Amino acid sequence: MEVLKNIKRPIIISGPCSAETEDQMMQTARDLKATGKINILRAGIWKPRTRPNSFEGVGEIGLEWLINAGIETGLPVITEVANAKHVDAALKAGFKMLWIGARTTVNPFAVQEIADALKGTGIEMLVKNPINPDLNLWIGGIERMKNAGLEEVHAIHRGFSSVKSKTYRNEPMWEIPLALKQEFPNINLICDPSHITGRRALLQSVSQKAMDLIYDGLMIESHIDPDNAWSDAKQQITPAVLNELLGNLILRTVNTDNLEVNQNLTELRNSIDGIDAELNELIAKRMAVATEIGNYKKEHNITILQPKRWEEIQKRQLKLGLEHGLSSKFIAKYLEAIHQESIRHQTAVMNK
Ligand code: PEP
Ligand code: MN
Repeated sequence: MEVLKNIKRPIIISGPCSAETEDQMMQTARDLKATGKINILRAGIWKPRTRPNSFEGVGEIGLEWLINAGIETGLPVITEVANAKHVDAALKAGFKMLWIGARTTVNPFAVQEIADALKGTGIEMLVKNPINPDLNLWIGGIERMKNAGLEEVHAIHRGFSSVKSKTYRNEPMWEIPLALKQEFPNINLICDPSHITGRRALLQSVSQKAMDLIYDGLMIESHIDPDNAWSDAKQQITPAVLNELLGNLILRTVNTDNLEVNQNLTELRNSIDGIDAELNELIAKRMAVATEIGNYKKEHNITILQPKRWEEIQKRQLKLGLEHGLSSKFIAKYLEAIHQESIRHQTAVMNK
């Protein structure tokens, strides 16, 4: 047992989105094994689909296909479970590793049912982030597994459903998995670029980004004939393409013992620290003026919120920020934070 712990970073999990036929499963497994870069074989047997009448997985019969592919290639295998019945069937088939999907992590009842079914099994469990960007729900899923006595519980980041995103199938919101890793420093954090991007063209760059954010591994969907896959066709790649992608990955280290590099970095970091201190001072100064304005507003019965003025500021700062190479997303975010803090200061004045 303890598969993940004994794999040298990056841990690579791959296999089809869905097990479709015995042949497809075996052939994919053989081709993946031949790359020499895969640590764990995955496949979905029960597929939670948003709408009925799309392919919902081959069901229990597929468990055996995956187990057999694992035996032939010598690779550990993993599949998704969504209820206690799935757990029982997977345990009976001999699985030692399981994951719960995004549509399951959102539901504490389902997660608890699965955790109860796993009590005392010593199964290694991977918890995907919930569909919605709720860090606590993700933490809760992991805690429920740990509370059931499972010692090896790890996390998969597959992105978050968003109506806004044009680039991604599921918005990565990198800050959420990074916060999870802060909460559980010893957890293995696996990135799933397939479900984040939803398309092949972006897999390389998102995988690289995950490596540069010190993720422990990647789960990438692969298929012997991706265009004709029964689910998630657009994001699957052949084992050969995966081999190339993994070969292109640059694995950077967190630290170096090169003295000169470290000295130069320290100098640059000192300069960042100085700028941060200045930023603090400037923001405090800005808030002091906002408080003064608050006093006037109170005296003359003027509202805190000034929609027109706020719009003017946003427009002006967006233009200025863009000229300096800042992203519109960042500008919007930081202005909003500043505005909210100003409102908080003025509310305090009003309440005095
Ligand atoms: C999957 O891994 O095929 C899957 C269904 O993922 P998710 O739960 O992230 O949608
Ligand atoms: Mn999939």
